[in-house]
Amino acid sequence: MHIATLDVLRCPYCGGRLELVTSLFSRRDGDEIHDGILGCQCCVFPIVWGVPVLHLLEPSTAARDQVQAGRPDLARRTMFGLEDESQAVRFEAAAASESATYRELVDALGPTFEGGYFLYRFSDPTYIVADAVVRAVAGTVLRNGGRAVDLCGGSGHLTRSLLGISNPSPVLADLYFAKVWLARRFTAPGCEPICCDGNAPAPFARGAFRFAMCSDAFQYIWTKRQFIGEMARLIDGPGEPGAVLISHTHNERTWSPSHGQPLSPDGYRNLFETLEPRVFGEAGLFADVVRGGPLDLSRRDADDVLDRDPALTIIATSRADVLRRHATAAPRERRGELRINPLYAVAEDGDRLQLRLTFPSDDYEQEYGACRQYLPDSAIIERTAARALGEGRIPPDLAELARRRVILDLPARYY
Ligand SMILES: [Zn+2]
Repeated sequence: MHIATLDVLRCPYCGGRLELVTSLFSRRDGDEIHDGILGCQCCVFPIVWGVPVLHLLEPSTAARDQVQAGRPDLARRTMFGLEDESQAVRFEAAAASESATYRELVDALGPTFEGGYFLYRFSDPTYIVADAVVRAVAGTVLRNGGRAVDLCGGSGHLTRSLLGISNPSPVLADLYFAKVWLARRFTAPGCEPICCDGNAPAPFARGAFRFAMCSDAFQYIWTKRQFIGEMARLIDGPGEPGAVLISHTHNERTWSPSHGQPLSPDGYRNLFETLEPRVFGEAGLFADVVRGGPLDLSRRDADDVLDRDPALTIIATSRADVLRRHATAAPRERRGELRINPLYAVAEDGDRLQLRLTFPSDDYEQEYGACRQYLPDSAIIERTAARALGEGRIPPDLAELARRRVILDLPARYY
């Protein structure tokens, strides 16, 4: 972690500033702290492999004792949950390799980690809506500077959408150490990862951010009232007002897979005491994105529209320039590697590549089949065009396939 990040961190329990305890073990390199112990007036927390672990759940306290004993190597194993020696050795060898891919490290963490479909995340329907909404809202409120935080952001797939928008670089917070560690290395390089508990107060200072978001996780938070109060506190700073975004939270009125403990649209509205929320049905936003924009955040969905949508998006802000129409097709600089979407089977045919949409399982198709609205069943790419992708260019004849997400800008060394 960067030493300057201490300015925005606060103890989740006493609210006090956290300082590096210099009398205890630490490993630093200039302004970066790799391993060490942070202290406030009530607690001590470990920094493990550059990630502050700001909760007191079981792995954190064990890892803290290990860092304090000068064994950051053991603390890493503890936080990654690597109890089996041979698995730990395998993971550490993979992690030490510069050329290791996200997929290889996920595999090395074992079959219970990540659970499957991460490979297809960058073109799934939930992601493409959230990405468009994040770019529109964060792009507006951070236009003149300010920082973003992605709460319960997992492996940072949407934190990636904040790179280049958030200045300083975005903060990613999640309970799962391995996920935020992977995010910093692959999915959102340069983000500042924090390991913390979404059911506890957020470990940040008031007004540390101008944009706070949480995607596809809020339905699993038990302390929803506290969580929204915390999001409002985090953006309560001087200068221009910010925005809170809850994207893809489930709806108590409509069943959905992995339901969680969702609220009704009104139940969600009631959580906001200081900001005015607007609730959107995800289906309408999805249709906007598939159409190629604009993303219409000026819409007011009727109650029956909201009631029957399994997923809701909530935006709370006092700014009028957020709740309007936003262009979605804005060209953006390339961040990673241009690749053919891994949902396509590729067959060589002379000077051409034949692509065929192929789902990894029936379950995938069941849950994410709406991607057929933008992913064509088949496509043909000239070899010369495919070579241009390898050189980091999208030739004009592939622009439409890029817009339809057949061509993706994926994190470097993703798979
Ligand atoms: Zn404290």
